[in-house]
Amino acid sequence: MSTSHRDFDREIEDAIRAAQRAAGFEFLGTLTRLCLLPALGSVNETDNVPPYVRDPNLAPPRETWYADAAQVFDNLYFVGGKLHSAWALKTSQGFILLDTIYPYNSEELIVGGMQRLGLDPNEIKYVVISHAHGDHIGGAEMLQKRGARIVMDPVDWDMLSRYPNRYTSMAPRRDIDAYDGMPLTLGDTTVTLWRTPGHTPGTLSFTFGVLDRGRPLTVVYSGGTALNFPCSTPDPGIRNLQIYIDSQQRIASQAAAVGATVLLSNHSEFDNAVGKIKMLAGRGDGPHPFEVGSELVQRYFEVTRNGARAAQIRLERLAAPD
Ligand SMILES: [Zn+2]
Repeated sequence: MSTSHRDFDREIEDAIRAAQRAAGFEFLGTLTRLCLLPALGSVNETDNVPPYVRDPNLAPPRETWYADAAQVFDNLYFVGGKLHSAWALKTSQGFILLDTIYPYNSEELIVGGMQRLGLDPNEIKYVVISHAHGDHIGGAEMLQKRGARIVMDPVDWDMLSRYPNRYTSMAPRRDIDAYDGMPLTLGDTTVTLWRTPGHTPGTLSFTFGVLDRGRPLTVVYSGGTALNFPCSTPDPGIRNLQIYIDSQQRIASQAAAVGATVLLSNHSEFDNAVGKIKMLAGRGDGPHPFEVGSELVQRYFEVTRNGARAAQIRLERLAAPD
């Protein structure tokens, strides 16, 4: 006897269609990652050293990751690579750096990139890590040794002590614990840190102001996107996906509350950073390619929410009695 009156196929299709509608042409990378590619559904629970950490010779070839540093707003600089981003926010008292890419390319892309732009990397005062995965925490130890303070959510700080091998060469000393709504102020500039657990238990997202030719704009920075946490079985997948969905909802509300019209990420796959930087070079008097407007910013979070919801409905079907 059927105890379920739900049409799961229909519900899944509705969620995917909602994500597709929200993505339009702007967020195809995010849509692909969340709705079309299979969710990884697992995390590395071992304490193994990633090969590129163990041996710098195992780093991927330079042409696969090198990208030119660029000024994106009056006070915001891109110092990341082709796939993974790092951003330097200029303040009246130095720089706040958002994310640090890998151990093998952070020195060249962040330190070297700032130097190539005529900026002083010794002026990096704070480094905020969105979450403790190797593509974002990779340069934190190097930058801490150069004098920067490191900010991360306490739950992700704990991962470093839990997996000491995994973080060899990218293990900053525990420094500043972030908390929800924390204002990180340096000189005339404040970055507000928001807890958005899901991608990792301590993922942080940010809101902050930038200037475009003197015009103030507000950025929302999404700190973790892909569904690569345990979500291949109903328990704990349904719960973990709900944590992710709630976080996406919450940061979308924060973005709306502060009037964010710019969506940034730490993967070019999700915000098209590298492509948009090329467009910016030919901007002239046209609009800023990163200023997508508040409606599209909200639609980004509809893509992530609905993509996760589709994955969650699949698990609910698995858990439903036949
Ligand atoms: Zn990650």
